[in-house]
Amino acid sequence: MRIVLVNPRGFCAGVHMAIQVVEQLLELVDDEPVYVYHDIVHNTHVVQRFRERGVTFVEYVNDIPAGAFVVFSAHGVSPAVREAAKAKHLRAIDATCPLVTKVHMEAIRYARQGYQILLIGHNAHQEIIGTRGEAPEATQVVESPACIASLTIHDPKKLVYLTQTTLSTDDAQVIIDALKQAFPAIKAPPTEDICYATTNRQHAVRELAPGCDMTIVVGSTTSSNSKRLTEISMNVGTNAKLIDDADSLQADWLGDVDRVLVTSGASAPEDLVQAVCRRLVNDFGADLEVASLADESIEFALPKSLQDEMRTRGIDTANRRIPFGSFTITREAYGTVPITVSAGR
Ligand code: SF4
Repeated sequence: MRIVLVNPRGFCAGVHMAIQVVEQLLELVDDEPVYVYHDIVHNTHVVQRFRERGVTFVEYVNDIPAGAFVVFSAHGVSPAVREAAKAKHLRAIDATCPLVTKVHMEAIRYARQGYQILLIGHNAHQEIIGTRGEAPEATQVVESPACIASLTIHDPKKLVYLTQTTLSTDDAQVIIDALKQAFPAIKAPPTEDICYATTNRQHAVRELAPGCDMTIVVGSTTSSNSKRLTEISMNVGTNAKLIDDADSLQADWLGDVDRVLVTSGASAPEDLVQAVCRRLVNDFGADLEVASLADESIEFALPKSLQDEMRTRGIDTANRRIPFGSFTITREAYGTVPITVSAGR
């Protein structure tokens, strides 16, 4: 068996930043309690590891004692949540990914200009709840082409569509095409809303999965972008499984598999991917090839709210930048596995 390990995979700049926010805050506040509104990122291991270090995750601002620290997750929150936090005098640190904030800003701007916003995404996803909350009167969520018939449109010339950042680019295009057919004058967002990390990870699976017998995506079922990676593999005809960790790997999936594509969602820690690879090596005699399709060098600074908190404690924020490099694949990480880096892929 050969493992084809995809690059890029795993943490994106937004997830890396959000996790660093909680890490840095824990260091900063010593024994003070830290609350996080919603899962900081959609990964069960990341959340559990923080829980074990004393972080409390809540779904309601009311569950946080007045004056406490609260971190808003990478998915963003609505103005109503920010207001509720303010009313309780919470010390809010906003770890919203800047690429989600960009979509919020678009929603605010278009609503002010009198546009109705058709927000393509999953109705119950935290990101959509937050974005819709910026302009609730002007926004309708479109989950599929079937939703179009039930939209209430005041003026088809004053329409814009925006999208969730972690959608399948294929599925989003189907909905965009249907919207354009129904409303030819609909405006597109000024720049693509589906983010670079989603696009790169999906593109890699679309390219590489056809050459493999199976795809394993390391990620949680709560992770939208991880689920989309399994769907894309299935769409190109390669069976795919989404697993949280190496323990979830089932031997009977791998009976006839010669080449297995391994990737991970944007919120899945790299050590979980390495553990999956190790299990494939130890239990199935796999060797490993790294297939690189894109380099990512995007980094986000720590949010201003955290930097302000650091400055009030006399900490020089210039020294607190967390470098975010691409993953280094080392022989040591995989024991004695022979590693082939495939040129150009
Ligand atoms: S997946 Fe994209 S939008 Fe979401 S946190 Fe990562 S970079 Fe930001």
